[in-house]
Amino acid sequence: MMYCDVSLPVPLDQAFTYRLPETMQHRVQPGCRLLVPFGSRKLTGMVLALGPDAPEGPDSAGVREALRLIDEEPVLDAELLSLGRWIAQYYCAPLGEVLRSMTPLSGEVRKTKLYSLTDAGRDTARQLLLGAAEEDATLQILRLLEARPLSASYLQKKLPNALSVIRSLQKKGFVAMEDLEAQRDPLRASATRLRASWLKSVPEGVKPTKRERELHAYLELHPGTHNLEQLETSVKGASQAARSLARRNLIRLEPEAPTGVFSSYVPPRTLNPHQLEAYQQIEAMLLGGKFHTFLLEGVTGSGKTEVYLKSIDATIALGRSALLLVPEIALTPAVAGQFFHRFGDRVAILHSAFHDAERAEQWRRIRSGIATVVVGTRSGVFAPVQKLGLVVIDEEHDQSYKQQETPRYNGRDVAIVRARGAGAVVVLGSATPSLESRYNAERGKYTLIHLPERIEQRPMPDVEVIDMRQEFLETRKMATFSRRLVETIAERLKSREQTMLLLNRRGFSSFVACRACGERLECVNCAVTLTYHRRDRRMLCHYCNYAQKVPSVCPKCGSEYLNFIGTGSEKVEEELHRDFPEARIARMDRDTVSGKRHFESILHGFREGNFDILVGTQMIAKGHDIPNVTLVGIVSADVGLGLPDFRAAERTFQLLTQAAGRAGRGHLPGIVLIQTINPEHYAVRFASEQNYEGFYQKEIQFRKLMRYPPFAALANVLVRSPKQEDALAMSAELGRELDPAPEGVKVLGPAEAPVPKLKSEFRYQLLLKAADRRILNETLRDLQRFARDQKWPATALVIDVDPLTLL
Ligand code: ADP
Ligand code: ZN
Ligand code: ZN
Repeated sequence: MMYCDVSLPVPLDQAFTYRLPETMQHRVQPGCRLLVPFGSRKLTGMVLALGPDAPEGPDSAGVREALRLIDEEPVLDAELLSLGRWIAQYYCAPLGEVLRSMTPLSGEVRKTKLYSLTDAGRDTARQLLLGAAEEDATLQILRLLEARPLSASYLQKKLPNALSVIRSLQKKGFVAMEDLEAQRDPLRASATRLRASWLKSVPEGVKPTKRERELHAYLELHPGTHNLEQLETSVKGASQAARSLARRNLIRLEPEAPTGVFSSYVPPRTLNPHQLEAYQQIEAMLLGGKFHTFLLEGVTGSGKTEVYLKSIDATIALGRSALLLVPEIALTPAVAGQFFHRFGDRVAILHSAFHDAERAEQWRRIRSGIATVVVGTRSGVFAPVQKLGLVVIDEEHDQSYKQQETPRYNGRDVAIVRARGAGAVVVLGSATPSLESRYNAERGKYTLIHLPERIEQRPMPDVEVIDMRQEFLETRKMATFSRRLVETIAERLKSREQTMLLLNRRGFSSFVACRACGERLECVNCAVTLTYHRRDRRMLCHYCNYAQKVPSVCPKCGSEYLNFIGTGSEKVEEELHRDFPEARIARMDRDTVSGKRHFESILHGFREGNFDILVGTQMIAKGHDIPNVTLVGIVSADVGLGLPDFRAAERTFQLLTQAAGRAGRGHLPGIVLIQTINPEHYAVRFASEQNYEGFYQKEIQFRKLMRYPPFAALANVLVRSPKQEDALAMSAELGRELDPAPEGVKVLGPAEAPVPKLKSEFRYQLLLKAADRRILNETLRDLQRFARDQKWPATALVIDVDPLTLL
């Protein structure tokens, strides 16, 4: 008899034992997925271990039999399984849920046809949805599809006659359909789009046809990958033979790397002396082949990317692989294109916006060792990279590395742990390193490398801070743009140079208040004000997407005196049109950017000079390299400063410095104007000087004084419930459990969370600080045990270790 331990994606901290039927016994390995019965359901779990022994005790009789083996080969190797264990332990997350989020191949959901709106469909949807009082089936479908592409089966569940509606929308050109099955199975793609390569020799007993033998021999004699259509010219009937050989795993067929859509080729550069020195330090460690972490602190425009690329070259030359992680927003087709040009079909790109099928394909290329350069966003850290030699984390301070749902891991930190296990070198790069990383460098845990200058000694931009209180005193007007900003934009328009304007708040007005009774319009699901979105003529909740019509009178007292207060990026755009009617203006924020392609097309248009001014939220501040931008205007530096979060200053400093860094990256010098009512705040002051060191020294004092990270390990413990009394009661119970606080742990709260109600749930939180991570971890586990013993609902307790935000 054979048994195996399976980890299931359920919020329980344990593995489950199953019996293996005869047919599976020799095929199952740790790291394979297995379909098993669980209660009355069937679940896909991950095999952790197997052996001949039944579990001890009286339970062994009740052991059930596994239903189906999903993978013939493990999807997680031993290294990744142990990384998964580390994550589960460190972040107090159930192992089954961790392992599930580590595997990209979703075996359970088989969406074959996916429907999405075309551009025409999107415009029509907007117009129709605005005017309509009641929604018919067509409108309902449009509304559903406006959010994201959906499968036929999902739509049918929502609406019984969905398919006939969809068909008529397809005919009108409003809806497009993709057949994912065809993409998932590379064998079905056409020969022009496939590449073939030799895999292994023909085993005894297998009798290929003559054509198949010819092709197999040809591929063995000609190593590398070959376009299948071109192979036809050397081997007759190659296309058909290839498919049958690939089905038997004797050769490999893979999709042609996408080309054409990508931007210009950037040739390798000769490194300047600073870059060279940085590279040589990294290379030395690569040669040593041992785990080591570098912090590459380089001012904006100092050429960090080129240092990464050279280091990746060196890694490949050593016969090892490289993993590069970038923030979510930075992985555009342009960036991907650069990597394809540089590393050819050794590159695999992983992006969360890819379909399952695309992701699965990249994943297989990495696992087989064909792709030795992997570029990905946060979850790319789980790519099955073979012989990992180098991990680069670009913009290591970026918030998008932290996952905001279970498991709440930080991709940067997980990457470092993975590299430690693999004996790989880590390079963390940023112009504005996180306090944690910079402090680790100071303590000697990381080696600090500086790139103190911009490429070709281009000057850093000149920064001016504009005191908007003074501006008001002088003009007696509450203007969005200061006189100085208006005049500088006008100059840029005249000289045909480009401007970027940042306001990190979307919508038109931040909120609506009644001047008669003071009522503010709030979301029905969340304790936050609704934001006015003018183009859509809606009031929108930025937390849960609840929307309602714009009121004409106060819903509380009936007064007509409603005040629209505050400015968002939409209003900035409108005022620009008013002040500069001749300017070509584009806006980039979550309202105008609906997908990866859309985002890239706006950026591309701006880079090509189709727009004079780009307005946007923090999206525009990150990483983009557009040489003709000589003015960056920050409409208000104050947006994030007032937030009740100990990272507010750090966040603001990073955003301002990164945004300022977009100016003057080409041959023309740049200028930055920062409008603020807090001109003396140190985050604003140091950002205006582009002085990271000064900011770090000041901020680290504050962290030390307050015992915030990096001087303490922090965890946010949140309790939530649809009933306020329940949430309050549970948080009080946790408070009593922690009174007196365990030795070495400081407890703040319980208190109402900064957003006390979110998506119809009431929230209370406790903040735990500890000097010692082990003690913090034990305390959190005690709380989890307590919640389980009290039979709290599984979702009531949320634990966030190393939270990036307390909001
Ligand atoms: P960072 O990421 O540090 O802000 P980038 O890596 O984007 O900077 O580099 C800024 C620009 O300088 C890019 O256009 C890049 O192609 C160019 N560049 C990088 N290294 C060199 C070099 N050694 N010589 C000339 N140009 C370079
Ligand atoms: Zn009122
Ligand atoms: Zn809401």
